[in-house]
Amino acid sequence: MAFEISDLPYSKDALTPHISAETLEFHFEKHHKGYLGKLNKAVEGTADAEKSLEDLIKSSKGGLFNNAAQVWNHSFYWNSMGPGKGGEPTGNIATAINDKWGSFESFKEEFNKVAATTFGSGWAWLVKNSAGALEIVSTSNAGNPMTDGHTPILTCDVWEHAYYIDHRNSRPAHLESFWKLVNWDFANSNL
Ligand code: MN
Repeated sequence: MAFEISDLPYSKDALTPHISAETLEFHFEKHHKGYLGKLNKAVEGTADAEKSLEDLIKSSKGGLFNNAAQVWNHSFYWNSMGPGKGGEPTGNIATAINDKWGSFESFKEEFNKVAATTFGSGWAWLVKNSAGALEIVSTSNAGNPMTDGHTPILTCDVWEHAYYIDHRNSRPAHLESFWKLVNWDFANSNL
C-alpha cells in the first residue's frame, strides 16, 4: 500500500502575510509531495510498504529514512501552525513551559537560539523526553526526535526552502513568522 499525506490543514493563502501562498505552493506541492513520491518509489513491492510511517522512521536508515522522516516532519510542521494562531501559549503547555523556562519569552529565546544554530538544513523541535520533561532539540537534515525516544510537541522547518521565497536567507525573520502562527492547541494535543 502506498503512503499518503493529508492536504494542508488550511488554504495556501491562509498564513499570509507571515508565510506566502507561493511558499506554501512550492513547499507543499514540490518539496513535501516530492519526498512522498520518492518514498513510495523506494518501498514499492517491498515489506516496508506495509509498515506505518512511524515504524519506518524508527527502523530505517539512509535514503529510505530521509524520505520517510521528511514526509512525517512536514505533516507535523503544517499542523504546528495555523491561521489566527500565534502569540502566548495556553493550557497545559503554557504551564509546562513556565515550569521549565520561567517564561514564554525565555523559552522563545532558547528555541530561536537552537533554530538559528542548527547548521545547514534541519528542524527545531519542542519535545517531551522519555522522562516526561520538555526539551528543545535540533535535528539535521531529515532527523526526527522519535529516533531518540522523544515525543514531538511542535516543530519549525529551518531548511532554506521553508523561507527563501519570503525572507531570502533570513532564518530569524522566518522564526518571527513562525511565532505569529504557532498552534498551541496542536502542542497541547501532543503533550
Ligand atoms: Mn521543508
